Amino acid sequence: MSAEIRLFRCLNDNYGVLLHDPASGATASIDAPEAEPIEAALKATGWKLTDILVTHHHADHTGGIQALKDKYKCRVVAPSAEADKIPAVDQAVREGDKVAVGKLSANVIETPGHTTGHIAYWFHADKLAFVGDTLFSIGCGRVIEGTPGMMWRSLIKLRDLPDDTKIYCGHEYTAANIKFARTIEPGNAALAAREMQAAQQLAKSEPTIPVTIGDEKKENPFLRADLPEVAAGIGMAGKEPSQVFAEIRARKNKF
Ligand SMILES: [Zn+2]
Repeated sequence: MSAEIRLFRCLNDNYGVLLHDPASGATASIDAPEAEPIEAALKATGWKLTDILVTHHHADHTGGIQALKDKYKCRVVAPSAEADKIPAVDQAVREGDKVAVGKLSANVIETPGHTTGHIAYWFHADKLAFVGDTLFSIGCGRVIEGTPGMMWRSLIKLRDLPDDTKIYCGHEYTAANIKFARTIEPGNAALAAREMQAAQQLAKSEPTIPVTIGDEKKENPFLRADLPEVAAGIGMAGKEPSQVFAEIRARKNKF
């Protein structure tokens, strides 16, 4: 039996996600922005919370952990490098570790940049990846603790996942991200089509995620910094991809 997903909004623009294994009944919350919407999703599905898989230490991803831990006695899995900044951690994990949710299994991928200990969870058999604030739909997280070069290498690791991997990210930023991406690649037809699709989804109050790695490779400028046409388009022909990425990220910060 394959994994089931429940996606819902938390706080202002965060996403909450529940991942459920029908075979065992295990259910994980990916991050815990706030307890109430997660409890509402558990009630609506009838699923019982067994695990919280944390991507990074920011309060809008961890604010609900303690209340959920107290109520459900669930296991809290978190990045080893940030375990001291995250409440109630039971299991600290790093690159290459495996995390089980019932019979579902994830590989831990370290993706530093947004924070220096940030991790993603890749459920390869289920073609799912939970990437927190590293990769967004047509965007990427701000480089707050790490360096642009570090963030670029992290994004390449995610780009190397199979094209049909479904990506769940931490925020609904797609509309603003597309508006910016169009300034970097105004001639990208796939991106123009995505803009129409996202506008339709948002008009119906539908989420714009999950996205696939295959689509992001065609449309997300932050994953395309090593393409000659992208570098040339921003006046950086021949520069190192990490420098091109850094320039695109700097422009987004000012956008
Ligand atoms: Zn964050």
